[in-house]
Amino acid sequence: MDENCIFCKIIKGEIPSNKVYEDEYVLAFKDLHPVTPVHVLIIPKIHIQDLEHVDETNSVYTQKCQEAFKKVASECGVAESGYRVICNCGEDGGQEVKHLHYHLLGGQKLGTKIVHE
Ligand code: 5GP
Ligand code: ZN
Repeated sequence: MDENCIFCKIIKGEIPSNKVYEDEYVLAFKDLHPVTPVHVLIIPKIHIQDLEHVDETNSVYTQKCQEAFKKVASECGVAESGYRVICNCGEDGGQEVKHLHYHLLGGQKLGTKIVHE
């Protein structure tokens, strides 16, 4: 855990969050500033900075995040309608919080473009 990381603080319960799903490895909670009707953040329950810091010692956590996506989608009512999962990494990827997280977006049609022109 990183003492200065806001997502580590959310995991420890020091900052409140609107939880959607939780297990031993994963926490999922609603984004504070949703950009779609359904906007949930799925995070590993250990501090991994970003995708560049995933390796054989911690990849069980990313695997469990992957397994959580459909559970979150089902919980939020978008399993049938569909959704998008985004993971920003580093400066050019637009990552603001330096604790690995996946955005699950849905509840509206998102179209086919994944990059703003
Ligand atoms: P990033 O740009 O790093 O991929 O996304 C960070 C996300 O975390 C943003 O969508 C932002 O709204 C969300 N966020 C930042 N701080 C908090 C917080 O304290 N609580 C919650 N629920 N979401 C947060
Ligand atoms: Zn952290």
